[in-house]
Formats: sequence, structure tokens, C-alpha cells
Amino acid sequence: FDASQCAAELRSHWATEGGDASYALLTRAFVLANATTSRIKIVDTLVNFLRVLIEGDPSSILPAVWLATNSISPPYDELELGLGGSSISKALKKIYGLNNQGLKALYDKHGDAGDVAFEAKKRQSFTLVKPKPLRIKGVYQSLKKIATSKGPGSQETKQRIVEKLLQDARGAEESRYIVRTLVQNLRIGAVKTTMLIALARAVLYSKPVGADFEVRPPDQLARLKKDELAEIYSSAEEIVKASYARHPNYNDLVPCLLEIGPTEELLVRCGLSMHIPLRPMLGSITRDLSEMLTKLQGRGFSCEYKYDGQRAQVHCDEQGKVSIFSRHLELMTDKYPDLVSLVPQIRGEGVSSFILEGEVVAVDRETGDLKPFQVLTNRAKKNVELGDIKVNVCLFAFDLMYLNGEPLLDRPFRERRELLRSLFVEIPNHFGWVKSMDATSSDSESVLEFFKSAIDVKCEGIMVKLLDNEPSTNNKANNLNETTPTIEPKEKPTRRKPLLSTYEPDKRLESWLKVKKDYSTSSETLDLIPIAGWYGQGRKAKWWSPILLAVRNPETGSLEAVTKCMSGFTDKFYQSHKEKYAPGSTNVISRPSYVEYHGEPDVWFEPCEVWEMAFADITLSPTYPAAIGLVSDERGLSLRFPRFIKVREDKSIDEATSSDYLALLWRKQMERAGEVGVGEVEG
Ligand code: ATP
Repeated sequence: FDASQCAAELRSHWATEGGDASYALLTRAFVLANATTSRIKIVDTLVNFLRVLIEGDPSSILPAVWLATNSISPPYDELELGLGGSSISKALKKIYGLNNQGLKALYDKHGDAGDVAFEAKKRQSFTLVKPKPLRIKGVYQSLKKIATSKGPGSQETKQRIVEKLLQDARGAEESRYIVRTLVQNLRIGAVKTTMLIALARAVLYSKPVGADFEVRPPDQLARLKKDELAEIYSSAEEIVKASYARHPNYNDLVPCLLEIGPTEELLVRCGLSMHIPLRPMLGSITRDLSEMLTKLQGRGFSCEYKYDGQRAQVHCDEQGKVSIFSRHLELMTDKYPDLVSLVPQIRGEGVSSFILEGEVVAVDRETGDLKPFQVLTNRAKKNVELGDIKVNVCLFAFDLMYLNGEPLLDRPFRERRELLRSLFVEIPNHFGWVKSMDATSSDSESVLEFFKSAIDVKCEGIMVKLLDNEPSTNNKANNLNETTPTIEPKEKPTRRKPLLSTYEPDKRLESWLKVKKDYSTSSETLDLIPIAGWYGQGRKAKWWSPILLAVRNPETGSLEAVTKCMSGFTDKFYQSHKEKYAPGSTNVISRPSYVEYHGEPDVWFEPCEVWEMAFADITLSPTYPAAIGLVSDERGLSLRFPRFIKVREDKSIDEATSSDYLALLWRKQMERAGEVGVGEVEG
């Protein structure tokens, strides 16, 4: 991969007067990124693209970053394009002179709306007036206008903007990416992390005129040893990623980065802030209690009930203004006015501002009994009025990340928890602490009891969190008095990097482990056929993930999709699976007529193997057609928490689980539960 050639190639697409970067330049970067599955090449392409902008038109960087990450604003800003598929079809017909049949034929052939636009534009014989080239800034502004048009006449306004964009697109590739952007499926394999890495690297090489930081000329970096270069890259990337994890808004991050570079100062200027949600810390999956005890052997930890509700990040500033954010950083203050009204009461003496985190669970207000997640989903999502609330909730707090103007992320969990529990005030059945028990791996009996008690009250399992930072010496952590656990650890623990109990936004570390009942109690398994997949996100971008699985219908001979799965696979397995089903290989086929599924996977597999799958329970589904007509005329069946166990080498696809067997299992499950309806899954 020749970086300077790539940069020169990109530059040749500049093509606008007045210094503004053209949309053709961004399109070229998309085409180059799309031409490879190598993440290194995708990053390099983005780095070159960003450098071309830094040197030529820094003001287009921010809009380019939004467009390349297929978004227009951070999730908590609530800006949505709100375009239906019909609006895109209407515009395609009008601008490219297609009729209904012509458009349908293109959709049937290509599937993807962007590819349809590409073909339609290619076929367009001539245009009377050559439009002015689209500019990156102009396209981004158009998208913002679409998202902000509200009220009467807004549909027409949006439609006009979409049509104008298609009209002004100069080449077929521009049309393709304009449409992919409008349907929010860019498909260039560049996800959030790729962009953050590219931003960090681009400012190692180049800086805008007047910026106040050191850059390293490419020839100087090229002379460094491989590990020295890796070190420079990784510290810049860590800073940019950490800043984004604490303050996920490119509108703040990009200008600041262009001004001061990837320096520690970035974390101060663009770090944890009131009313901007940080990306939550995530738990790592463990198979069962035994694996958890092995992982944390020699360490002190806290077991907490893992409530089945909705994660909530509560911000409150000195003036008492409250914002509540979801796990995916959406603003949900309007959904929980009851929690907002609690804040003055839970805020103990001496607490002026804070960010805390907990799980919102539907409860019985009188008894405090927990209700299933399905009950919580009955609450309206927006503009809930205090007087109208029928689903009562309790917030079970589990962490405190910010207090009185000071971030607490670097403090050990024990200390954060102590501050949370001593400075805030419990209100029974409204606000309290997650139920917890401190332990070590020698307390396996009581850990098991605690786990069972969590399951008894309908929790999903337990979260297990390291209490203290592990010292970096080889001493046993926390002077624990180890005895052999009764639940035998499965593997011998090896000495690894010391674990920290700090709050690490957006990271999934071994210091937070989840043990779910579904993982420890899967009695039944199914033998399913992998039939399709999607391009993975983030770390899994190189592989197919999730993977769509099917049961077979012995009556019709068709394969009926039953679930998507992205759990239970090792990286090695993902790798060999991707090799087996590589694009272009004979194992990748066009949409088979004998498959029942309404969604649009990125790839269809030749059905040729059977996988054993564990799952928590079977649910009625509006999305999956498996066993439709056997238990319900409108709904099929699907699985909750599907998990890959192994390839059944000994089975052919004719021996895979049949739809009627799945229906039988569902009936058995219903009999056991003694009730109808375990809820629905969405897809
Ligand atoms: P993840 O959020 O880890 O990506 P996921 O969305 O599948 O995965 P789960 O596997 O159910 O979620 O586990 C994590 C979630 O459990 C948290 O995001 C949080 O909402 C919930 N949770 C419930 N109780 C706790 C607790 N005591 N500590 C932390 N999280 C908890």
C-alpha cells in the first residue's frame, strides 16, 4: 500500500473552485476503503484522506468525519434523517427517469439501494446542465437540513433536498454513496474505532496552519523501528479513543484535536463533561461461576445482582439540572420524570454535582418485588407525564463516575462505591444500591448461594467487579487467604498484567465480569444451519458477525430463519469461518429461493453445515419465520441468548432441527412456565 500514491490519487479528486473539498474526494476515499477488507488499508486510506484535508481544507474535516461515520450528530442530540425507503425510491425514479418496473428490476438484481442508484446513474444517458460539484460541507449541511425540517411541509422540503443531492451527484459512485448515506448504511467497513485511529494518526503527520503542536514528518517516522512507531501510534490512538469515550462528540473532539494534537491536554479539554454521556464500561462474558472464580483468583471482588432493566446514566449539575442517558447514549430524561423528581432527595449533604450509573427496573411499589424487563418496555419512550405513570421503577445504583466537579474514573471501585453509598440517600423501592456481596474465590459456596438468590428474584445473573487496583508486584493481591474453591477452577490462573478497578469508559475488561443464568443452565440445545451473515462491527469488522441461522421445514423443504448469533465464537473460529465463506468463493451464493427470511443480510452462505447452539428460551417473534403456522399464524419462533457451542461434524443439514421439533420445545417450555407469552424478540 503506497501512502503517497493514495494521497495523490485522492488529491486528484479535489475538483472544486474556491478551496472547498469536493464530495468526489470523500467518495474516492469510500471507494478505496470499500475495495479492501484489510483494516490496515482502510485506516491508511482514511489517514491519507484526512491529511489531504488537513493540508488543503481543514474546515471540511468535521463534516467529513460525520459523513464517514454515517451520522450527523452525537446520539444524545436526537437528530434523525427520518427518511423512509419510499422517499429514496421516489427520488431515484424522478431524477433517473425510471418507472416502477425499472426500479423494481434494479432492486431485485442489486438489493442495496446505493447499488441501485449507481446503476441508475450509469444508465442515465445525458444531463442537460452539468451540475456544480458537490462539496463535503454542502452534503453535510443538506443532511442537517433534512434532519431539522419539522412540521407541516417538512416532508416536501426533505424530498426536495434528497432530489437535489441526487441531481447534483456527478458520477455513479457519488450517487451510490449519497444514497447509502441517506439510508444510513455506508458499508465501507470503517467504524467508529477506525475513524478515531485514523484521526489520531493523521495529526501525527500533519497539522493545520497555525496549530500549536509538533508533527513528525512521514520520512522521519519511516526511519523509526517498527516497535517505536507502534508505540507512537498507540499512545496517540489511546488518547483520542479515551477522549471520545469520555466525550463522544466529534463537534468538540475534532477542532480540539486539530488545535492541540493527540496530547494529554485533549483529555482535559475534551474529557468527562456534565450533560454529555460517557460511553459505559462493559462486562466480559464468562461461561459460568467456575470460570469467573478462576479469572479472579487471588483478588477481592464484589458480586452484584445483574438486574434485568435498562441502564441509566444520571447527570446532575450544581443548578440541579438533570439529564438521563441510555446504554447507547440516547437522552431519556423525558422517559423518566419520576427519576428526575427523585434527584433532590437522593442527593445527600455536600453533593453539588454528580454522574452516577444504575439499572432502572420495573418494581412493585409496595413490596419492592422486581418485575420482568417486558413490563418496563410498556413505558412510553418520550414525554412521560408524572401523573400518567403506570409502570413504577426503581433505580439500583452501581457506580459513581463524577462528584462535585471532579471525575472519579481513576479511583478504585471500592472508593467510588463508598462515596456513592455514603453520600447519597436511599429511598426504599425508588432508589437504592444494587444488592451485593464482597468475596474472594475461596468463598465459592457463598458466591453460589448469592448467584442462586439473584436468579430466584428473576435477575439475569450476577456482575462481578474487582474492588481494588491490583499492585504491580508479584505479591498476591490484597493479601487474600486462599483456600481451594469448592467449585473447581477449570484452568490454572496465569500471571497477567495487574488488573485495575478503575472505571474504563467503552472498555470490556476482566475487571467486570458477567455470569448469566442462561450461560450456566442451557439444558436443551438445537442443531441449526448457518445461512447468512452481516459485516461485523468494530473488532469483528474482518469477520461475519452476526450470523443468521435456520431450522429446516421438512414439509416444504425450505430453511426458516430462527435467530442471529454473535456469541460463543472464538476469534480463531470467526477467522476460519470468514475464510470458508469468503466473498467470491463458491460457498457464498446469491439469495436462495428456499430460504424464508425478510431481512437483508450482507452475504448468503451455501447451507452446508450444522451448528449446535445453546439458548436461554424460545420466544414468539414478529421477525423470524421459523415454525410459523405451527404455534401462531402471524408469528414465528426465535431464541433468546443464542450461543454457538460447536460444529456438528457428524450431522448433515438434513438432520438439523426441524421446525416442528422447535414448536414442540416451545409448547413444553410454555407448559413448564404455566403461562403464555415469554415476550417477543425484535430481530
Ligand atoms: P453489554 O452491555 O455488556 O454490551 P448487553 O447489552 O448484552 O451487553 P448484558 O450482557 O445484559 O448487556 O450485560 C450488561 C448490562 O447489565 C449492563 O449494560 C447493565 O444494563 C446491566 N446491569 C444490571 N445490573 C448491573 C450491575 N449490577 N452492574 C452493571 N451492569 C448491570
